Amino acid sequence: LLSGKTAVITGSNSGIGLGVADSLAAAGADIVLNSFTDRPEDHELADALARRYKVNVRYIAADMSKAQECRDLITKAGKCDILVNNAGIQHVASIDTFPMDKWDAIIAINLSSAFHTTAMALPIMRAAGWGRIINIASAHGLTASPYKSAYVAAKHGVVGLTKTTGLETAREQITCNAICPGYVLTPIIEAQIPDQMATHNMDRETVIQDVMLARQPSGEFATTEQIGVTAVFLCSDAASQMTGTTLSIDGGWTAL
Ligand code: NAD
Repeated sequence: LLSGKTAVITGSNSGIGLGVADSLAAAGADIVLNSFTDRPEDHELADALARRYKVNVRYIAADMSKAQECRDLITKAGKCDILVNNAGIQHVASIDTFPMDKWDAIIAINLSSAFHTTAMALPIMRAAGWGRIINIASAHGLTASPYKSAYVAAKHGVVGLTKTTGLETAREQITCNAICPGYVLTPIIEAQIPDQMATHNMDRETVIQDVMLARQPSGEFATTEQIGVTAVFLCSDAASQMTGTTLSIDGGWTAL
């Protein structure tokens, strides 16, 4: 399906980004993995994916909190038929106590990085005559929660950027859409469970059901595979008239 295409996925050495990379590689795409670290295990992830799916996989270190590094990532990738803007971080605090550096980092990594990579990828996609941009937003791109001001603002911004990108490319064979996951059990979420168990004096299952999935009516986590397969669908011809829109994978969260 995607052989001959190159997909650049930001923040893809774990969680959803790695799941999307796996699905795109399984569909035949060559892959550029990314995070801000440059460890042997990052490059080993790339080698393992390449062996598994017999596609080309490179790991390129770049810090998505830095505008120039975002832009250089696309230059170093060389080809970019599919761009997945996935890198993201979270910080939870009330607005009046929210650390200024955390606000700046979340806006930079979760929102501005997608602007910089998109700006660099569009000329490459135009030259190739085809492109797909997939922004990993969140249910928090469509609804809010208290104590997540920077994250909610950034993710609403990503949805706005998605619409504008969709309009600017509407007459071309380029689409831009946002996937809005609810809770997905990635390492970052898994790591929060022990803290929540202590804070609420609850067992693991009660924390998952009553705290984490309280707003997810299905009562189940979405999976990285489900996000990955949706990304593959967005790259297919069947999705060529879908642009500038959002796809929720949230067990009914945003229907409430
Ligand atoms: P994760 O922590 O496993 O993945 C985040 C990725 O971003 C990692 O690969 C990390 O290395 C990378 N990253 C962080 N800072 C970076 C930086 N400065 N430069 C480059 N890369 C950086 O978490 P995840 O759950 O897989 O999150 C991936 C995306 O999905 C995020 O944008 C997140 O907001 C979004 N999301 C996650 C959930 C969920 O429940 N897990 C729900 C909705 C949206």
